[in-house]
This record gives sequence, structure tokens and C-alpha cells, in this order.
Amino acid sequence: SDGKVKRMRGTIQDVTELKQAEATLRESRELLRLFIEHAPVALAMLDREMLYLAVSQRWLQTFGLEAGEVMGRSHYEVLPGCPKEWRKDHQHALKGKIMPLEAGCLVRPDGQMQWLRREVHPWFTGGGEIGGVILFAEDISQEKLAENRLHLAASVFTHAAEGILITDAKGIILDVNDAFTRITGYTRDEVIGKNPRILKSDRQEPTFYEEMWRQLLHDGKWTGEIWNKTKSGRLFAEMLTISAVPDEAGGVRQYVAFFSDLTSMKEQERKLERIAQYDLLTGLPNRTLLADRQRQAMVQANSRSRVMALICLDLDGFKSVNDRHGHNVGDHLLIAVAHRLRDLLRAGDTIGRPGGDEFVVVLPDLASEREALPVLAELQAAARAPFEVDGHVVRLSSSAGVVLYPQPVDVDADQLLRQASQALYHAKLEGKDRYHIFDPRQDENVRGHHEDLERIRMALAKGELVLYYQPRVNMRTGKVIGAEALIRWQHPEAGLLAPAQFLPVIEGTGLELEVGEWVMVCALKQVEEWNRRGLDLAVSVNVSAQQLQQPGFDALLRRLLEAHPGVKPYRFELELLENAALTEMGEVVALIEMCGKLGVAFSLDDFGTGYSSLSYLRKLPFDVLKIDRAFVHDMLDDPEDLTLLEGVLGLATAFRRQAVAEGVESVEHGMMLLRLGCEEGQGFGIARPMPASEMAAWAKAWQPYAEWRHAKTLPHADWPMLHASVEHRAWVLAIAEYVEGYRQMPPALEPSECQFGNWLQTERPSAHSDRLAITGVDALHHRIHSVASELLELTRNGNKAEAAAGLSNLYALRDQLLEALDRMWS
Ligand code: C2E
Ligand code: CA
Ligand code: CA
Repeated sequence: SDGKVKRMRGTIQDVTELKQAEATLRESRELLRLFIEHAPVALAMLDREMLYLAVSQRWLQTFGLEAGEVMGRSHYEVLPGCPKEWRKDHQHALKGKIMPLEAGCLVRPDGQMQWLRREVHPWFTGGGEIGGVILFAEDISQEKLAENRLHLAASVFTHAAEGILITDAKGIILDVNDAFTRITGYTRDEVIGKNPRILKSDRQEPTFYEEMWRQLLHDGKWTGEIWNKTKSGRLFAEMLTISAVPDEAGGVRQYVAFFSDLTSMKEQERKLERIAQYDLLTGLPNRTLLADRQRQAMVQANSRSRVMALICLDLDGFKSVNDRHGHNVGDHLLIAVAHRLRDLLRAGDTIGRPGGDEFVVVLPDLASEREALPVLAELQAAARAPFEVDGHVVRLSSSAGVVLYPQPVDVDADQLLRQASQALYHAKLEGKDRYHIFDPRQDENVRGHHEDLERIRMALAKGELVLYYQPRVNMRTGKVIGAEALIRWQHPEAGLLAPAQFLPVIEGTGLELEVGEWVMVCALKQVEEWNRRGLDLAVSVNVSAQQLQQPGFDALLRRLLEAHPGVKPYRFELELLENAALTEMGEVVALIEMCGKLGVAFSLDDFGTGYSSLSYLRKLPFDVLKIDRAFVHDMLDDPEDLTLLEGVLGLATAFRRQAVAEGVESVEHGMMLLRLGCEEGQGFGIARPMPASEMAAWAKAWQPYAEWRHAKTLPHADWPMLHASVEHRAWVLAIAEYVEGYRQMPPALEPSECQFGNWLQTERPSAHSDRLAITGVDALHHRIHSVASELLELTRNGNKAEAAAGLSNLYALRDQLLEALDRMWS
């Protein structure tokens, strides 16, 4: 019986323990739940089936949940975005493992991405068994974002092409990047803790720095050109932008300075400056410098009571020389004429070549008009004497128009030039090889001019003037950016007339202003009309310098914009010719800035051709540079033009202006531009100017060429390859000209003597790792040279027809070679 009692007691004791254990369990679970619900972090308690037992308020907030949708439900149902690996973590924890976990990303039920730091712990029942898991989560999305941004900022900082320098509020250097070291020669360690003063050159006045600081403190920003000194003492020009980084209190935390080295740009500038003043072919002053000399001579004539003569001299029959003997002979002839005429003049005289076969002579400081005539006779006699060029004997004559200054009625420089060309026109009409002196008293011309003017005034009134539109696009993306409005005269008898056929007549008159206003109104209406039809295009309008500088132009513009409220800002642009004679620079700057405030953009038209490109570029705040079509057109066959184009693009980048290439006539033009990094273009290869009604359909249908879409922008280091390809094209062209009899001397034949061959030799190891491709190009190049020498041999032996027939083979090989190069780039 004793044993029985014992057993019974044992049973009682067991039951009690069980009850106690259960109570403890309930209690600990309850405690845990209480603890969890009030914990100031995101915690959840789940059972072995991953059903929710308790959650903290923060947990609900973190995942955007309500308590009601959570309790008793499965974790995976509540957060279906829970990644697979996390489920594995839960399984491990349920087996008793505690693991360090990496931060991970979860898609919340509401679709938001969330970065979390997580922990998973098992929890234990009173009996020491695993009752489930406790999850901990911390939302670190903000930190992650900041971290990514920091990464990005850090990589921009290190890899930027521009030098970057960061100082504290007192101007002590905190950090610099690699480009800083490359440009200045100072390493990071050498400058940290120092003042940027170490870079200072003595090129700038103290007032320059005072002004810079004044603006920096006032606007928080300064931009400008400045000369600094490298570690080795070399001066360099930089384009510098300093920005103040504000702190929370509104003071300055840091200054960040960005700069790019402009020295090579400055050299390029000087080169362009020279090109801008002299004719490349003959070395004579060009239109720009001529205009300058002419104005000086006029001033001198006025102040000293002397006479000045202006002569326009045009070669008769030059065109037929060109046609008969080829352009090369034509070019050499022009050089010979230029030199012969120049040698006849006195020291103070100027002879220039404004273009073509036309020369302009300025004879200042004459006692009377009579002194001009013997000089003129000598010039014409010199033009009549035979020339020997490239083995040909060529005979020419010349026609001349002469004007004298001062005149009874005050005239300006442009008028004078117009009178001289009018007189020249007379001389030609009278039968060449003679001269005509313009007579200001003879008002016949004035009358004729007047009649034309009246006819154009009528055209405007009768609605015969129309605008055509030529699209401007991004050649890579295919986006149609806008259209340029180009005026036409729908003449009832003569048909559609181009601007060159009637704008010169109204130049400088009041009618020019009226037509200009009509153009703006018409274009604004067109933008609204396109808008209504769902076409969001910007329209640009050409304005003459006279128009821009007329008093009240700003008020006019404001009034026109107000009258067309449907035109969104920057959908209306003005294009100003680069060679426009802007007299009051300060006023023009103010005007352009005012237009900017109205949301009207400004572009500099025909950039690269004009009077003073560089000073305009520096002084006037243009938004867009339209690169003249002359450069673009010839860049594929003329290495010199390619160089100029690169210079112009470089300037656009340095001055942070949008570059637009005019005259994109073919796929190849577009390819070259895209490789040089110029994406915006306009030209016949994209679309010819068209009536407004055709624009919508065109814009819908237009697609860039597939090649353009995939064209790669080449880094500067690879530009020599582009040059090499242009050199090669030019060389093949020269061979063809020789074979066809347009050229006396063939170009160099040895592969090593040609520019392309040189490039292959010297650049080959560094430029491209693709040796196989290079070897292929090399082989093709040799093959081209042997074909070329066969053709030259045939030509020399008089087998002209056979040689000419062989040219197509040469062209095919050239295209193969260019394609092979293309493949290396893409
Ligand atoms: P621009 O401003 O340089 O206009 C571009 C000219 O280049 C247009 O000649 C256009 O037809 C032509 N063009 C466009 N793409 C190509 C191409 O790929 N190859 C070639 N060879 N030419 C191309 P357009 O219409 O005869 O106009 C001549 C000039 O007349 C304009 O030159 C501009 O200076 C002036 N102009 C035109 N409309 C107006 C106007 O409304 N007001 C003023 N003040 N001047 C105007
Ligand atoms: Ca234009
Ligand atoms: Ca233009």
C-alpha cells in the first residue's frame, strides 16, 4: 500500500508541475507579448507555423499594416514579397540557430521597395522547447539611398574631367580630385589644409578677387575665366565656377570649385581668331578685316579731308578656268593673282578677298579721286598679263567697280560696299575688262531700288510672303526639337523665291522691320496652331541686327508673346546672324537676358563664319550655337574643316552652349557629328524646308537612320582616327581628280607617306586593342595603294578611259576600308 500511495503522490506531483509549467509558459508568453507590443522597435513574435502571435506598433508602421490584418495569420500571407532566402533563415532559427544576417530588400504589400536590417531569433517555451521565432526589422531605406548617392557623388568627384576643389568656410582646402592634380600638378597631400591662394597668378587685379567674393557672398555662386599658376609655375587659363554650400543655419558650410583648363582652348581660339581675319587660300585679309580697314580709312578721310577709294574687282572668265582645268588650278590661279595685285599696292593700301574670284581694294589717303585711276589701271593691266599655273598658261581680265568717299550725302560702310558692287555690276554689263565709277548724284539706281521695295511692300500686304519650316532634331534619339522658320516669297509670276532674292533689297529699310514683325507673328501663330493639333515644337525665327537693335524691340516682343499666350516658354527662339553688326554690346546683352526672362531662347547663327565669333561668344549669353553649314558640309573630305569643326564644338562645350549642326546632308555627316559628340542637327539629309501644313505628318513619320541610333561618341583620344579617315577620303579624291585630268600632280603614293598610313603606323599600338581588325585595315590600305598606282600608271601612259573605269574599284575599296574602321568604333 505504501507503494501505491507513493505512486499516487507522484501523479499528483506530476500534474501540479505540468500546471505550473503551463502557467509559466502562459506568463512568459504574455510577458513577451507585452514586451513586444510596447517595444520601440519593429518586432514580431510568431509560432512554429509562422503565424503571428504579437507585433509591435513600429512593426505595423514599418510595413504599412493594421493589427487586425496580422494577428493569427501567416507571415508569408501578410508579406508575400518575403524572399526565399528569408524563409530559409526562419527555418534555421526554428532549429535553434541564430545567424548574423545581411541587410536585404523587400517589396511591401503596397509595392514600395524597402531596405531592411533584420534579425531572426528562436524563442523558447517554459519546457525549453522552441516555440517559434522573433523577428526584428529596421527600415534602412533612407540610409541606403544616402549611401548610393554618396557612392555616386564620390565617383563623379574622382572621375570628373573637370578639376574639383572643396574648401571649408574659411577657404582651407578639404579635398581635391584627380583632375585637379592633373591640371595643377599639385598632389592631394600637398594641398590639403592649404589655401587655394597657392594657385594664384599675378594676372588678375586685386579688384577682380574683391568682385568675385562680393558676388560669391551675395549670390552664393561665381563663374568666370581666371588665370592661375601650376606647381611648376606655368600659367593656365581656367573656366571656374565656385558655389557656396549652405549649412542649416543659412551660413556657408563649404565652397566647391569646378574648373576646366582653357589653355589649349585659348590656343585654338587664337588659331580661329586668325582664320577669322584672313582668307585661308590666298592669305589676304577676309571680309572681316577688310571691313575694319575700310572703316579706318573712312575715319581718316573725314578727319584729314582726304579721299578714300574702294574698288571691287572681279575676274572675268574665272569660272571657265575652273571648269576646264579643275579646282586645283583655279586655286593656284587665285593665289597668283592675289600676290601679283598685292605687290602693286602702297604700304597703307589693303587688298582682300571676301570670297570667290572677287577682290576688294581699299586706297586710303588720296588727294583726289584722280589719284585712284592710275592704280586701278595698273591693277587691271596686271590681271590681263598671262599667268602660268601648274604648266598651263591662263589669260584673264577683270571688271571693277569704284566708289569714292566722302560723298555729298552721308553714307555708312555697308552702303559704300553695296555701291561699289553695283558699279561692278555695271562694268560687267557694259562688257567686261573695264571699270565703272559709282555716281552718287545719279539717282537712277535709287529709283530702281525704290520700285523693288514697293513691290515687296505690296507682297507683304497681299499675303504673298510665306514661312517654310525646317526641322531641327536630335539625330541619336530621333526627337524632333523644333523647326526654323525660313521666309519665302510666293511670287505670282516668278514662283517661289528664296530669301536671298528679296531680303537684300529691304535690308536697312523700315520695311525690313515690318517684315520682321510679320515673321514673328506668323511663327507664333504657327506654334499655337501646332499645339492645338498636339505637336509640341519650338520655332526659331531669324532676326536681323537692325531688327534686334530697333528701339522698343523688347516691348514689341513682350507684346507679341502676350498676344499669343498659348506659346509655352522656350518654344520661341530667336536666331541672330553671327556676322550681324551689333553696335551696342551692353544693350544687346541686356536684351538677350530680358528675352531669357520671358522664356525666349537665343541662338548665334552661322557660327564660325563671322566677324568676331569669339568675342561674341564670350560676351553674349547665347543659349545655342548653330554651326555654319560650310564647315559641316566639307568636314568629310577636308581635314582642315574637320579641325575647325572640332574647335568650334570644343568652344561650345567650354562655354556650355548647345551646339546645333547646320547642313547635315547625308548619313555620313550625321555619323561624323555624333562621333564628335554633336547630337542636334538640321539639314537636307533630315528634311528640306517645308510648308507648315506638312510638318505634323513629317514629324510623325520621321525616324533617324539606324546607324545614327547606334553611333558612339568617341573620346577625344580617338579623334585622330576620325581625321585619318577624312585624310584617306581626301587622298582618294585627289587620285580621282588626277585620273580625270582635274589635277596636275598626283598625291604621294607610298603608304608610309600618306597621312592615313602615318596614322596606322604610329597610333596602331595605342589606339585599339583589336589587332586583328587593324591588320585587316592595314592589308586593305596596301591594296588601295597598289590599285591607285596602277591607275596612275595607266593615266601616265595615256590609257585615260581604262584608268577612269578603274576608279569605281578604288571607290569600292575605300568604302570597304571606311566600313572596317566604322566597325572598330562601334
Ligand atoms: P540660315 O538662317 O542659315 O538658314 C538656313 C539656310 O540653309 C536655309 O536657306 C536652308 O534652306 C538652307 N539649308 C538647310 N539645310 C541645308 C543643307 O543641308 N544644305 C544646304 N546647302 N543648305 C541647307 P534659305 O531658306 O535660302 O535662307 C537663307 C538665309 O536667309 C537664312 O540662312 C537666313 O539668314 C535668311 N532668312 C531666312 N528667313 C529669314 C527671315 O524670316 N528673316 C531674316 N531676317 N532672315 C531670314
Ligand atoms: Ca537661321
Ligand atoms: Ca544658319
